[in-house]
Amino acid sequence: MKRKEMTKIHLTAQQGLTARQAQERLDQFGANQLVAAKKPALWRQVVRHLSDVSSLVLLFAVGLASYMALFQGGGWTKTIVIGSILVINVIIGLYQEASAEKALAALQSMSLPTTTVRRDDIAQTLPAKDVVPGDLVLLKAGDQVPADGVVLQSTNLTVDEAVLTGESVPVAKEKLTDPTAAAETQQVFSGTAVTGGTAIIQVVTTGMATELGQIAGLLNKTKKRATPLQGRLNRLSGWLTAFAVLGGLVIFALSIWMQNQGLADSLMIGISLAVAAVPETLPIIVTISLAHGVKRMAKRNAIMRRVNAVETIGGVDVIASDKTGTLTQNQMTITRYWTPNTQNALAAEDLSPAGEQLMRYLGLATNAEIQLIDGQEETMGDPTELAIVRWLKQHDRSRQAFEKQAPRLAEDPFDSTKKTMATIHRLSDGQQLVIVKGAFDRLPIAWETGQLAQAQAMHDSFGQQALRVLSVGYRVMPATQTHDWAELTQGLKFAGLVGIIDPPRPEVIPAIREAKRAGIKPVMITGDHMVTAEAIAKEIGLLTPGQLVMSGDELRTLTDAQLDDQIADIAVYARVSPTDKIRIVQAWQRAGKTVAMTGDGVNDAPALKAADVGIAMGITGTEVSKGAADMVLTDDNFATIIAAVREGRTVYQNILKAVEFLVGVNFAQIFLMVGAVLMGWGAPLLAEQLLLINVLADGIPGFYISREPGEKEAMAQPPVANDESLFARGLGGRLAVRAVTFTVLTLGIYALGRFGLSNGQATLGMTMVFLVLAVGSMIDIYAIKDRQPLTRQSLRRNPTLNVSMLLAIALVLAIATVPGLQGMFGLVSLPAVAWLIVIPAMFLPTLVLEIAKRWQRRDTQNWLVETD
Ligand code: ATP
Repeated sequence: MKRKEMTKIHLTAQQGLTARQAQERLDQFGANQLVAAKKPALWRQVVRHLSDVSSLVLLFAVGLASYMALFQGGGWTKTIVIGSILVINVIIGLYQEASAEKALAALQSMSLPTTTVRRDDIAQTLPAKDVVPGDLVLLKAGDQVPADGVVLQSTNLTVDEAVLTGESVPVAKEKLTDPTAAAETQQVFSGTAVTGGTAIIQVVTTGMATELGQIAGLLNKTKKRATPLQGRLNRLSGWLTAFAVLGGLVIFALSIWMQNQGLADSLMIGISLAVAAVPETLPIIVTISLAHGVKRMAKRNAIMRRVNAVETIGGVDVIASDKTGTLTQNQMTITRYWTPNTQNALAAEDLSPAGEQLMRYLGLATNAEIQLIDGQEETMGDPTELAIVRWLKQHDRSRQAFEKQAPRLAEDPFDSTKKTMATIHRLSDGQQLVIVKGAFDRLPIAWETGQLAQAQAMHDSFGQQALRVLSVGYRVMPATQTHDWAELTQGLKFAGLVGIIDPPRPEVIPAIREAKRAGIKPVMITGDHMVTAEAIAKEIGLLTPGQLVMSGDELRTLTDAQLDDQIADIAVYARVSPTDKIRIVQAWQRAGKTVAMTGDGVNDAPALKAADVGIAMGITGTEVSKGAADMVLTDDNFATIIAAVREGRTVYQNILKAVEFLVGVNFAQIFLMVGAVLMGWGAPLLAEQLLLINVLADGIPGFYISREPGEKEAMAQPPVANDESLFARGLGGRLAVRAVTFTVLTLGIYALGRFGLSNGQATLGMTMVFLVLAVGSMIDIYAIKDRQPLTRQSLRRNPTLNVSMLLAIALVLAIATVPGLQGMFGLVSLPAVAWLIVIPAMFLPTLVLEIAKRWQRRDTQNWLVETD
């Protein structure tokens, strides 16, 4: 990594900057943000829109129409109409893109990281973007470094600099010695992750001036990658475009060959058909639907950090979730305890002398605090330890009082791999007290005869009652200088156990039921003991008969192949450490499944990255885990993941509905034109009529379908497999029905108008076809937007769609009836009898599609998941 030169650093006073200084520097240096690449100028955007295939073809058509007006005396109407259509197309494109971008920009501002700085001698938590050069930032394990700076104080600070160097081995950082020449090991860099220890740093540069900012500057220039669905739809669009162009060529050739039309006229109709049949709105509808999904998920407490994840979360097969806080309430309370002095466990309210001793040890080896601030209880620290503090309060004891008698000398902090924590205290007689608290099976107790069996039985009975168990060991020893914890904890005596209840979140039980109904397998991953994990998993309905509970120890003895064999049957993993999580994710992925995984700690980051959807906790999660995640739950709640799945599925369905809407009619247009010419009837629609249908009837309803709320059945279907065809689940069939209905109907209407109602008057037939095709395909959206049979609800659900549809239909009717407009588009007034045919015909495709839907529903049960 190339380092920028460090000039002399003016050290900030120990109390940090003043609020005023901070404000001045914020004005001077700007916000501590990576600035996104500037939006291209409007004219550039217009040029980009003009250079897509259909705009280019339209431009060519404008040229052609002008040529015809100049040299063939056809008048300028065609040129004006096609020109306006081109302009409208570009405006719609710009508007749609802007609304998608607005939604995505809002998304970025939702997931802002925070950091702790000292200003005016007070430690305060601020959005990381408000950090300025000179600020003193307090760092601890799990934090993300908010800006580049030098280390002023460090206690075993280690930092993962993989974002900058690609090297994920943590690097140790030490205190700055010479303010004129900071070594690399005395500097920390924005975006890197604190993996251990604590530190105070002084910020030197912020925002784009940081090392990360320099790289981000480069990243801004790289292209955005398409989501998998966007990729598939782009391929589909490619095929459809080829088909449309082929249709255009065929009609061009037929027009010259069969009708002896002039070259320019034939070219014009060929081009118009190609433009009308290209589904150019499809890619933008995908972007807009994804952006809408992001907004709706945010309303339901799921902040998406990557747009891709909106799509992926809808298709997850497995959700592997932590237990504490996500499936449970994280409101831990000690309900019972046991010491070897009694036969039975006692209730937490009942304090025996041995119980009092147990409480003292627990209190001494705790860091959590509960304070009353303005009458409000403010908690600080680990939830398991808060349970201890509450127990002390219940009996009018305090940690501070205990510590006065036995001051703490050192601490070996808790971590979820070793699952214990130890402290040493100085006793009044000069001896030392060593306390270790933690998981029963991890305490190095020197058991007295018969004691282990008794304690084990008591531990298991606590676990079966869904209690988290904390065990305590202690040792009184002569004063020593050693800090070797293995040595200090030798010959530990057993003090007792406490059982801690953490009730399940009530909303989790229905959420798990819903997940299972949606074909998703929920999996619990917990640091707790197997017995506890099993009891809670059963209580919330996650563990059902036939499913297994596996311990981390057992998991570590399995080879990957052995794990692959069993993975589908394991619903609960107990006593796991963060490294085990990656193996679980990878085993599911090898089975071809899409996996979501939750995590909150700094060591969960690799598993979050490995998962298809990494989910971090907004409240209890570390900044590092949030940085690695695709999605952040602002309420830490499992039920929110399921809500996000539902939204993700809605997005996917809406995109498919747009495909169904756009593609079916495009095919019908090609078949209609080619069919009519082959019958010797000539083109049944003029170029400008085709193009108008394309803008109004395709663009408007297709756009608003992205706002369609989810359907009930979305969660009664199995997840979409990665390789599932877009046309699966009946879409192919419905598309075919729609294309055939419109082709037959419009050909019939044309023949009727031209030969039945008039004496070969093509314009009458054209007007009737125009109305049926434009209005009929718009009305059809109601049958398409609901997979269920149409009800009154379907008409009410999406008011924006209704309004835009009414406007579009009114416009079509105006064009077909208002004299001036009529003439511009080559339409004529219809006799009453023609209206009597046209009006019912507009509703016919919807009727046919409704019948087809009911027909399909008979075998829908094949892919609906059985409810248990
Ligand atoms: P989950 O994985 O269900 O979300 P968790 O991440 O809190 O739970 P760990 O932190 O790995 O799980 O805790 C596992 C075990 O470690 C607990 O069963 C308990 O015995 C012990 N333990 C938890 N917190 C502490 C603590 N602060 N001090 C000592 N031991 C603890």
